Amino acid sequence: MNTQPSPSPAFIGIDIGGTKTLGVAVNENGDLLEERLLPTPQGAAELIGTTSSMYFELSERVAQSSPERFEVLGLGIGIAGLVDIDGKLRRAPNLVEVDGLDIGPILKSKLGVPVYVDNDVNCAALAELSDGVAASANNSLLVTLGTGIGGALIVDGRIHRGAFGMAGEPGHMIVNPRGLICACGKQGCWEAYASAAGLKNLAIDKAKNGRLQQINDKVQGDLNKIASEDITQAARRGDIQSVELIDDFAYWIALGLTNCAALLDPELIIIGGGLVAEWDLLGDRIRHSFDELLLASTQRNRIPIKPAENGKAAGAIGATLLGRQR
Ligand SMILES: [Zn+2]
Repeated sequence: MNTQPSPSPAFIGIDIGGTKTLGVAVNENGDLLEERLLPTPQGAAELIGTTSSMYFELSERVAQSSPERFEVLGLGIGIAGLVDIDGKLRRAPNLVEVDGLDIGPILKSKLGVPVYVDNDVNCAALAELSDGVAASANNSLLVTLGTGIGGALIVDGRIHRGAFGMAGEPGHMIVNPRGLICACGKQGCWEAYASAAGLKNLAIDKAKNGRLQQINDKVQGDLNKIASEDITQAARRGDIQSVELIDDFAYWIALGLTNCAALLDPELIIIGGGLVAEWDLLGDRIRHSFDELLLASTQRNRIPIKPAENGKAAGAIGATLLGRQR
């Protein structure tokens, strides 16, 4: 007689970002069992290949774990792009050659388990809703400031996906129609000003006008080599011109948040993404400009602006919730 207990349920979540792909396996309570980080490959076939092999590797690891063995019941994918309600990736400005990829149905037939796909920031918002800063806020907005800008709307305690699954892309709100070129190819998107790429754009613009001497010296006049960390580090050292640039940058961030708040009236704005690491420089400055820009800011309820609580695994952990919640 076989006395081996039946395996416990596990779920895999994979967060496919512009540069890195992070996979996690969790138990039914969302506790982390295994994780794996790989560079995001270029091209559709390679992306399917990497995602599948990551899924198989994580499944195998949890199946062999002892004393409790796990069986994977589903895969959630969070991906940096516009995902429609059928799990098709319509457009991904920061991924190469994957526009139109039927990622959900392809992986489902390849892996033989249910596969759920959503935008990466919607997944991160699910993580914040379930166990994070948004847990007590039924109407909130998550904006991720990284290479680009992502967004997720939480309305009445649920992610608002819009009629076709594409709601919550504030990075491509146009804030300056004759302005800088965005990664999406259009002109003047918020992302071209208020992301890490935006900070670099603003720095190049200032350096071309003879400002930002310290940064200019560091990159020896090759402005394309400016990294956002160069500016934040110089500002922390007290370089006045870098501090001015951070003031401008925080203003652009606040400008987009103000537009979002005018439309949504959220009870909370959560900021995620890599630039959260610079919150000590940015937080108060964003708050100041936001209060100046927002209509009736002294007459309405104060909208808190807080950094996200879930770390780098928020997107992947949130992706597991796509399956765990069904
Ligand atoms: Zn754009």
